[in-house]
Amino acid sequence: MTGGAGFIGSHLVRRLLAEGHSVDILDNFQTGSRENLSHDVGKIGRLIEQNVADPFSGAYDGIFHLACPASPIHYQTTPLETFRTAVWGTWQVMEACRLSGARVVIASTSEVYGNPLIHPQTEEYFGNVNPVGLRSCYDEGKRGGETVAMDYRRVHGVDARIVRIFNTYGPRMLFNDGRVVSNFCHQALLGNPLTVYGEGTQTRSFCFVSDMVDGLVLAMEKDDFDGPVNLGNPVEYRVIDLARMVLSLSSSPSSIVFKPLPSDDPSRRKPDITKARAILGWEPRIPVEEGLLRTIKEFQDRLGRHGN
Ligand code: UDP
Repeated sequence: MTGGAGFIGSHLVRRLLAEGHSVDILDNFQTGSRENLSHDVGKIGRLIEQNVADPFSGAYDGIFHLACPASPIHYQTTPLETFRTAVWGTWQVMEACRLSGARVVIASTSEVYGNPLIHPQTEEYFGNVNPVGLRSCYDEGKRGGETVAMDYRRVHGVDARIVRIFNTYGPRMLFNDGRVVSNFCHQALLGNPLTVYGEGTQTRSFCFVSDMVDGLVLAMEKDDFDGPVNLGNPVEYRVIDLARMVLSLSSSPSSIVFKPLPSDDPSRRKPDITKARAILGWEPRIPVEEGLLRTIKEFQDRLGRHGN
């Protein structure tokens, strides 16, 4: 698994180990952490500590390719590296699959739809992406990664399966990930104001990480997979309503403050998951209130151990 020390990756590692698989991890710990793997030390196979954009090889049956910073504050700090990781990292993964015959699940993103002009987003939609903006290193990089995956599939017959991951949240998100759920939960628990960008009328849909892990495993296991396939929770919330929900679930005295909306911030985002239902028999099961409660609880425990 590339990116196995990251947020989604580390949950997926634990699930695969529990199912009896042998798992090697490639990660450069840019946004992943050793703490995410601490419960599984001794069970994990090889830990390949390098950038996925550098060559690697191994005899694998399957590769989950998740390595890439995914939060705007992280991927915009080193935009050229982000683009290289997204495009050239996928290239290296595809090459490793070509050489070993491995099947591969490529973690793409809802960002390939940019600021979408159709709603909800189906896989057939080509997107509305700014090629020269602050988000482009990630958005265009991930689009380039999809191209590399599909051309390896067409040219070399690599069994590549693209999934487009929509906002996912849950325990073990970085406190400083900069994502809306981690920011709000962290701020609420510290009693700091919740930072709503813009007026908070933009929408997102939030998928709990265990549901996402189920979808990723199904994408690997399915015999005939014709992607890309959206994975995300189709229940849509306004950011301001999410803030109120976090305040209420955490019984926090925090206030809400409004900050400027970042550039190219999509105003609406919601996956159409008809294809995931039909092809994978998948749909999210954890309601957002329950997922937020579990996230808040783990954040609370972690704050108790490490402070802020
Ligand atoms: N957002 C917010 N406050 C924050 C962090 C994010 O209001 O502290 C907003 C952000 O502007 C965006 C939405 O929440 O409209 C989701 O942002 P996130 O970075 O989590 O994901 P993405 O934009 O990649 O969907």
